[in-house]
Amino acid sequence: MSNKVYAGIDLGGTKILALLLDEQGDVVYRSETATQAHEGAEAVIGRMVGLIKSSLTSERELASIGVATAGTLNAKEGIVAYAANLGWNDIPLGKRLEEEFGVPVSLENDANAAAYGEWAAGAGKGTQNCVYVTVSTGIGAGIVSSGRLIRGRDNSAGELGHITVDMNGPRCTCGNAGCLELYASGTAIARNAGKLAAEYPEKAAALLGKAGGAALTSRHVAEAAAEGDELSMRVLREAGHALGNGMVTIIHVMNPEVVVIGGGAANIGAALLDPMHEAIADRGISSMAAGVRFVGPTLGKEAGAIGAALLVGQ
Ligand SMILES: [Zn+2]
Repeated sequence: MSNKVYAGIDLGGTKILALLLDEQGDVVYRSETATQAHEGAEAVIGRMVGLIKSSLTSERELASIGVATAGTLNAKEGIVAYAANLGWNDIPLGKRLEEEFGVPVSLENDANAAAYGEWAAGAGKGTQNCVYVTVSTGIGAGIVSSGRLIRGRDNSAGELGHITVDMNGPRCTCGNAGCLELYASGTAIARNAGKLAAEYPEKAAALLGKAGGAALTSRHVAEAAAEGDELSMRVLREAGHALGNGMVTIIHVMNPEVVVIGGGAANIGAALLDPMHEAIADRGISSMAAGVRFVGPTLGKEAGAIGAALLVGQ
């Protein structure tokens, strides 16, 4: 007797992670290898094929393959149009895997796949409406509404980092002004900390001590804030308020049951998240905001591969 399995692959710039899910959606096999993108697309595809082949046994019948990857996708045609982290242009990845295995293959934006994975099998499990917000160097969101991933016309939905939180704010590289990302991303936290440190050098010793002469990062700010450094706490308070303003918009537009907050900067914790919750309580429509659960992700680095496997045909 054979058991159907569903492959999910997270194709990253440094690593390829391959999983097999059974019919219940449980991970039954996992393996990974270095991408070594410098060897070219054919070599990378060969490594993906190898990972899948070595995962299959006579008892396992491969039913589909979902691939999560960064970059611009022509998902309908199964083409990776452009991926800077891989150095790929117009690579027909879907077709190659289909020819190799004779099963349906689908490509998905990695952030959306991770959001779908967390919704289906992780922190958002059991809900119908879930937004996964990533706060790292930038800010992005993957949105599941009424049990469906919102992709938009060309897989670009969920650009939460580029909603306006200050109409009169500075220009963003995206063309808009006063974007959330300019105030609340890890990059913004580091930049704003640097500005304040230059402005108030007499108050910046603790923070600059964390950096030890290197460029400031959001982690330095978080470490100094955790030890009670006033200047760092102020930076995180302002970032948290901005993040809360962004959350208010997503709550008002999407009416989610759960918001999953992930990404490196989200690990800063209460110094960032308490002011975020203050802003939501202060500004959100109370009947909508009060019912939202805010949680951390639970699937870790496997979210994208799990989501990709579950999204085939969705
Ligand atoms: Zn922007």
